[in-house]
This record gives sequence, C-alpha cells and structure tokens, in this order.
Amino acid sequence: MSRLWSANVHTLTPYVPGEQPKVENLIKLNTNESPYPPSPKVLEAIEQAAKSLRLYPDPVSAKLKQTLADYHQLTSDQIFVGNGSDEVLAHVFAAFFKQDLPLYFPDLTYSFYPVYAKLFEIETVTVELNAKFEIDPNDYQSPAGGVIFANPNAPTGHLLGLDAVRQIARQQPDCAVVVDEAYIDFGGQSAVALVNEFPNVLVVRTYSKSRALAGSRVGYAMGNSELIEGLNRVKDSFNSYPIDRLAEAAAVASVEDNDYFEACCEKVIAQREWLAAELSKLDFTTLPSFANFVLTEHATFDAKTIATKLRDQHIIVRYLGAARIENHLRISVGDEAQNQALINALSHIVQG
Ligand SMILES: *Cc1c(COP(=O)(O)O)cnc(C)c1O
Repeated sequence: MSRLWSANVHTLTPYVPGEQPKVENLIKLNTNESPYPPSPKVLEAIEQAAKSLRLYPDPVSAKLKQTLADYHQLTSDQIFVGNGSDEVLAHVFAAFFKQDLPLYFPDLTYSFYPVYAKLFEIETVTVELNAKFEIDPNDYQSPAGGVIFANPNAPTGHLLGLDAVRQIARQQPDCAVVVDEAYIDFGGQSAVALVNEFPNVLVVRTYSKSRALAGSRVGYAMGNSELIEGLNRVKDSFNSYPIDRLAEAAAVASVEDNDYFEACCEKVIAQREWLAAELSKLDFTTLPSFANFVLTEHATFDAKTIATKLRDQHIIVRYLGAARIENHLRISVGDEAQNQALINALSHIVQG
C-alpha cells in the first residue's frame, strides 16, 4: 500500500504465474511448457540474429507476420504479434473490451482474464461451465461488450467444436469474440477458419506451448484487418519494439521447420493418451483433454496432499484450488521418461 499509487492499483489482484523453481533435475509439470527443446534450426537462427543485437528490431516484425500469414493462409494485415500472448491479450482487453456492456467469459478459464479486466476497469460476467466442465454456446446469447475463452479451455482441456465457436460469433455480431488457442496444436480444430467469415472473431496463439519457446515470449493474433489495426494502435501507444531480434528470428525459424514442430505435437498427444490411461489404472478420473495437460482427480486422496508428496520427490504439478476443482490437479504432459517417473511416484503415493 502506498498513498502514491493510483486509485485503481489498490484494487488489483495480480496474476500469479506457476513456479519456476531454481532446483536441478526437477520434473517440471506445472506450467504446460513443452518437454522437448525447440528445433535445432531455431537455435541456429537465434545465433545468427545475435550478431545484429546492436540494432533495434523491426518495429512491425514484417518478416514474422508474413511467415505467419503464409502458414495460416491469411494476409499480413490480418496478423498481430506481441511479447507473448499475455501481452497480446492485454492489448485485446485495452482495444476491444471497455464497452457499455460487460465482457463475458467462463468461470473456469485462463485466470489472467479477470486480472486484465481489473487493470483496464472492464465490467465482467462469468458464465458457469456446464456439469461436464464444458462451455455451452447457448450461455453466450445476452448482449455483450465482448466474449473471451480459451479453446481448448484451460485448465479443463475441453475442446469446443468449430460449429459451437461459430454459433457464439454469430450470436455476438456487435462485439469482439476472442478465442485463445494456446493449446490448439494438440488436436483441436482452429477458429482461424472463421476469420474471413466473421469480422468480429479474433484468434490468439502462443509460441510458449506447442512451439517450445516459452522463454522467448512470442504470441500473435489473427483476425479481420480492422481488429488488427485496433491492436496496432494500442501497441504503438505502449511499446514500439515488443519482439526483439532473437525472438523474431526464433519465431520465423520455428514455422519454417514445420516437420519438427508437428513431430513434437504428435509425441505430446501420444504421451497425453498414455498418461490418462495410466492415471485411470490408479483410480484417477481425468477430463478428456485436447491440450498438453490433464486435469485429474483421485477417488480418495486429496489433491493438495498428492501435490505436496510429489514435490518431495522433485515432481512439480499444479494445484489450482479454484472453486469446483478444489480436488483436481493440473498436470502438464511431459516426455516419456518424465511421465513414467510421475506414474511411478503416484502409484507409491496412492497404493502405498
Ligand atoms: C500459457 C497461456 C497463455 C500465455 O502464453 P504466453 O504466450 O506465454 O504469454 C495464454 N493463454 C492461455 C490459455 C495459456 O494457457
């Protein structure tokens, strides 16, 4: 508390990111990073780019935008890039959601949304997921100042089909409908297909999960060029250079090495299915997931106790403790060895 703070700062409840412990040989399954390294071509591109660090980066990241436009079969003016999708999302809130009507989002979704809403003084309505922890598009029919949800949703892993996303976009023609696709590469159908059909649909992506570049901070948005222009106006009123030279080079190279990327996604998907099957043998109930994590609950053991016991064995998972999922753990899908170690540790915990 300080009398020097602006009034709004007193009201903020900042987001708390998952822990990044400074412990070696940790099995880190708490923040949905990729268990695999980025492509060797990405590392080469970073080394090349490092030679020009004396110079400012391209303020409009033209090469990255063109690379992403080609990859998604859009035009460059339909792409916005930012310093991680968190920054892209912050600009989305600033650019579109401060309206006379409230912003709608699910009760269980990415917990940064209510944080941005407070920062930008945006009124919100939270809509309960149904009993199966799914978004029901029929719950998004009231006139809104904006709609945002993650798809696949986090922390549930539930995937909303393209027809349901289309229904929400159609129900809300007068506000931005933002689909946060942080996990779409793990088996979902993207709403990018709706961008040319609906001028109000904005799709947000990140390099942090499927592209194994959480440490580099690159995110982007795709939508109608007028939405993108709105985001550019906010960005150029905030930071001219959100994407540094190393980040842009890495992001371009990642898209260029598509085979490597796809192979990593396939490995994660296969490991996710293995993990869910093994958890089930240990009496865990796991929600069907289209992401690189699972949300799981044990029949008798308390989630917080399990998390603490795993931690004693240097395995870190996420206990969120949010309403409705007080007894669930969110576990990022690791590589084969990590997942096997997790299952071994869990079987000792729950079977003694
Ligand atoms: C991880 C995550 C983000 C943030 O991604 P960054 O690009 O690392 O900022 C955004 N939305 C959801 C749903 C996420 O899970």
